[in-house]
Amino acid sequence: MNKIVLKLGGTIMVLFLVVLLPLGYVANQIFTSFYYNQVGTEIDDLSKKYARTITSFDDEQILNMFKTLADLTNKDIYIVDSNGSVIAKTGIRVGDISEEEMKQLSQGQPVRKKFMDVETESSYLGSGYPITQQDSFIGAFFVLASTNDVIKPVEKVRDLLILSAVGALFLALGLTFILSKKMSDPLLEMEQATRQIAKGNLDIRVNIPSRDELGSLGKAINDLAFETNRYRTNRKEFFANISHELRTPISYMKGYAQVLKQGLYKTEAERVQYLSIIEDETERMVRLIDDLFDLSKMEEGKIDLHMAPTDLTEVLEAALLTIKIDMQTKGLDLNTYIQKEIPYIEADGLRLQQVLMNLLGNAVRYTESGTIDVRVWYEKDWVHVEIKDTGIGIPEKELPFIFERFHRVDKSRSRELGGTGLGLAIVKNLVELQNGTITVTSNVNKGTTFYLHFPVSEEDL
Ligand code: ADP
Repeated sequence: MNKIVLKLGGTIMVLFLVVLLPLGYVANQIFTSFYYNQVGTEIDDLSKKYARTITSFDDEQILNMFKTLADLTNKDIYIVDSNGSVIAKTGIRVGDISEEEMKQLSQGQPVRKKFMDVETESSYLGSGYPITQQDSFIGAFFVLASTNDVIKPVEKVRDLLILSAVGALFLALGLTFILSKKMSDPLLEMEQATRQIAKGNLDIRVNIPSRDELGSLGKAINDLAFETNRYRTNRKEFFANISHELRTPISYMKGYAQVLKQGLYKTEAERVQYLSIIEDETERMVRLIDDLFDLSKMEEGKIDLHMAPTDLTEVLEAALLTIKIDMQTKGLDLNTYIQKEIPYIEADGLRLQQVLMNLLGNAVRYTESGTIDVRVWYEKDWVHVEIKDTGIGIPEKELPFIFERFHRVDKSRSRELGGTGLGLAIVKNLVELQNGTITVTSNVNKGTTFYLHFPVSEEDL
């Protein structure tokens, strides 16, 4: 059995009872007292009128007339003399009027009293009014109304109330059933979908039933499936890439090692060339493994950065010194425009140098001829670095992806130039870990510019 239906149905039933029972009780009380009052006023009026009409108890005819009148108005009458003895009455058999009440009547005050028929045990509401003859008290006139007259209309109203309450209850139960089914059906679907996702079936999607909380839960499940799927594909690609990247240098090394072992070279120069190929490939593998190690540490958030106020200019100059030889070898010109008194930034000096070396290395690697411009300036509490080359450039559609692991615009060229395809992914991670941002603009065959932006260290503000 569907549990939401039970819970909701139960809650609504309890609520209904909590509200309806006291409400019904109060309504019943109000109606009862309303009808009692109405009947009471009616018999008060009648007893007063009748008592005033009577002047003596001697006229049998008048007494009979009252009996007929009482019959016509569906009431009973009960007339007593000043001692409380019955003078006349309709067919009822009720007890005597108490002394107390007689006393009250003799003082000119009306009396309200409940009577009980000793035989039928039906009860009556009675109103007595003193009868006077020339200002002296001679007896009392009671008009009695059966309490059935009061209870019957009240019962009618109560029946109506109960009927409508039962109707409303069934209506509410029906609505609850429909509502909870509307809620639980998508929940069951989502449960099944999440179980499928847990099993690895990541193409599954749930229907989004509405724009409420259920809808957003459905959307969250779909997003989860989508993201997990993307992660899985990404991981697959990553492993495929790694094994490919490792296999290439290994096959080179194996090949050339065999050539050397079997003495398949003609000159000493050839032998040295093969050995340097092996050495180069070993170096590439070391770099690749280092890069992978860095990247995985960064992605797991396990890299330790020694953040401290750092002079970016100093770090940049050290990087430029290292890269200068490569530039000279390729015949590239270097122009630097470094603003004076650049404030410190919060960074890890070694990691910052790694970032700059990587960007400068790429600039040299992907530029055949021309210049590399390096600019550093300070503006609005931020330190900016620009590294601009006049190299092969990056096509616009590739720009959004160049910071992804193993993404290369031209695979064979990157390999030829000794790239691992991980450099920019590491750069982006490192820059962001040091609270900075990196952006790029590029024109094919004209050149590429990378920009770095770092907030000025708090201590320097
Ligand atoms: P790689 O080791 O292949 O250089 P990177 O992650 O450093 O890997 O760069 C990713 C790709 O972005 C490179 O393969 C190259 O196609 C492109 N790229 C990076 N820097 C430049 C640049 N300065 N000029 C042109 N292309 C670049």
